[in-house]
Amino acid sequence: MAKSRNSKLCKIGDTLKVDVNTGEAVPVEGGGFRMPPGPPGTCEWCCVAHQPDQPHNQQSLPYQMRFHAINKRWPTWTDAMAHCSAEVKAVWRAHLVEMMRANGMEVPPDLRDDWPDTPGPAPAGPSPGGRYREPLSLVA
Ligand SMILES: [Zn+2]
Repeated sequence: MAKSRNSKLCKIGDTLKVDVNTGEAVPVEGGGFRMPPGPPGTCEWCCVAHQPDQPHNQQSLPYQMRFHAINKRWPTWTDAMAHCSAEVKAVWRAHLVEMMRANGMEVPPDLRDDWPDTPGPAPAGPSPGGRYREPLSLVA
């Protein structure tokens, strides 16, 4: 894995100016919250050292924060492996389901067999089973 990976800041929120009379919130130009990069050699999205063709760590807080900032919902494992090949997805889905069942966890809708694998628009509002939306580029 290249040492140059994960060297960018990621904007995860806006600084808002709120009009107390109208309640209108407007982002302050030049403001906002940025997440620092992870350790050298880690993925710029999840800050875990994994091969680019493998899923992001859906349990990684940096991944969750970055994903939520862009998609306005929390990521699913399907989101975390959206960039992977069909073969990699199949292996990960099978193992995730196996591990969840072995530990008495409920299998989320996106990992069930009847869940479509094609990307599409995210549904309105928070949805743990929402579809993946391509991430915006990170801030240099
Ligand atoms: Zn990653």
